[in-house]
Amino acid sequence: MKRAIITSITACLFLIPSIRVQSQNAELFYKAAGSPANPKVQVSWNKYNTNQGIADICNRLARAYPDLVSVESIGKSVQGRDIWLLTVSDKKTMDPGLKPGYWIDGNIHSIEIQGTEMALYTAWYLCEMYNENDFIKKLLGEKTFYIAPTINPDGREYFTSMTIPPRSGLAPRDNDRDGLIDEDGADDMNGDKQLSQIRRKNPNGQFIADPKDPRRMIRVEPGQKGEYEILGSEGIDNDGDGQINEDGPGSYDGNRDWGFNWEPNYIQSGADKYPFTFPEHQAMRDFVVKHRNIAGSQSFHNSGGMILRGPSIQSGYAEVFTRADETVINEIGKTGEKIIPGYKLLTIWRDLYTVWGGELDWMYGAMGCFVYSNELWTPYLMFNDSTNSDQYEFDRLLLFGDAFIPWQKINHPLYGEVEIGGFTKNFGRTHPGFLLEADAHRNAAFCIYNAYQLPKLEVRDIRVKNLSGGLKEVSATIENTRMIPTHSGNNLRYKIDPPDYVYIEGGSVIAGMIVENADLNITREQKKNPQRLEIPNIPGYLGSGTTGGFGGGFMGGGSFGGSSSNRVNVKWIVKGGSKYTIRVESVKGGRASAQSE
Ligand SMILES: [Zn+2]
Repeated sequence: MKRAIITSITACLFLIPSIRVQSQNAELFYKAAGSPANPKVQVSWNKYNTNQGIADICNRLARAYPDLVSVESIGKSVQGRDIWLLTVSDKKTMDPGLKPGYWIDGNIHSIEIQGTEMALYTAWYLCEMYNENDFIKKLLGEKTFYIAPTINPDGREYFTSMTIPPRSGLAPRDNDRDGLIDEDGADDMNGDKQLSQIRRKNPNGQFIADPKDPRRMIRVEPGQKGEYEILGSEGIDNDGDGQINEDGPGSYDGNRDWGFNWEPNYIQSGADKYPFTFPEHQAMRDFVVKHRNIAGSQSFHNSGGMILRGPSIQSGYAEVFTRADETVINEIGKTGEKIIPGYKLLTIWRDLYTVWGGELDWMYGAMGCFVYSNELWTPYLMFNDSTNSDQYEFDRLLLFGDAFIPWQKINHPLYGEVEIGGFTKNFGRTHPGFLLEADAHRNAAFCIYNAYQLPKLEVRDIRVKNLSGGLKEVSATIENTRMIPTHSGNNLRYKIDPPDYVYIEGGSVIAGMIVENADLNITREQKKNPQRLEIPNIPGYLGSGTTGGFGGGFMGGGSFGGSSSNRVNVKWIVKGGSKYTIRVESVKGGRASAQSE
């Protein structure tokens, strides 16, 4: 009997190989700088994960690092798939929900799959470096990461198991208004799970094969004779209406579905019925609304090598940035340009196009977060050269033709004999494998920098002075030692979160006040609840348009500016007590306390 039990336990262990913690024999390698020496969770960062792969990595991280990681499903997609979310924070230092939070998501657009790997890499890196690196350890003590590797699992499933998905998720829609739904999408005619281009021999065509690389089609000069015509993307007229591929699955824009500066489809194409039509975005909205500590966020897209910032509408409408927020968002974004070479900080409405109802705008406008959206991958990364973006040359010299489907003859029911071929779906907008890990690290580093710059509050300089009549004056300074304020301009304007509260404990409070100018003894008394002073905002050290130093404080780089705007002085008159505890509580700024001597 005993032996039978042991045997069955052993069998179970072998049946579930992913549970194993798979550190390698430490004698086999030597640590490279900045990467974990011997990850407990082995992951190759040169490939794209399926939904199952994402769940596997999330669960392995949660099992290997129970004190750092929790995994949960925050909701289901249109087709019923889980939307996984990782909470990464040092659970032993403080409840993760009480620390300033940083949100990361990826893949809202189905074909923009590598945001998922950037998000997963960030979670993995934080966990695997926690025991090796003091900076990461401290960061997870102070901050919480909320990481949703994909908020569009249906689109991802389509990409990894079928052909090229629509930009959207997969809720069925009648794109050509013929009363039928998704009846004429693209067709994978040769069964390679790709969607290729179609070319047909035609002496009057406008294209020839490039003599230098015959895979490339080039347009002939006016008056010259061509050899081919290009007939668009692989597919047939499934519903016999004389149009090809006019009603594929989905086709709306998930990033026009958010309830801030939202406009209907006739103003903002891609918008659906009403804000938050889709369950994926409802799930994220409900999570973020319940986690008010989320103070900054990143939503990964592709492509173009951009660090996008708001506003997305000229003049911003309800989203208009205050000068203080401008300063912070530009300062962090400029550092991002250094962290991720080839990526440029751009403002959406001015440098790209107008977006109504985007996720980024909702996160800033309605939730009061400091937000960026990185457009991942830029042709610059091919040759580290902004003047050469030749994909054919890159594929030839570095990928050895792996990203190109050679032209091949097939019989098309409408066009007759044609050839199909072209670049694979995993090239052009997404990273080739060998560049994926490097860019994942850089983008993770940008997220880490953002999270670091979320508020960090400290209570300092507590002074107790004896007054006449047994009264005492207790004063203290609350300082935010990071760039991001506890409240963005929009947070203050719309009262998204309550003010920051500063409490005093010990003795009974006669009066409480905010000291506006200590030298001139100008104070603002708070008559109601003086033991709990209300501070509307504690700016960061770059806030209020000060001339503070660049990058000050981050790993000892730079220097602090001379400004004192990131400090708030408070004072109480109390009776009784001997030791006083001053405690600050901020929804987005976290908590801190200190005691008098
Ligand atoms: Zn996108």
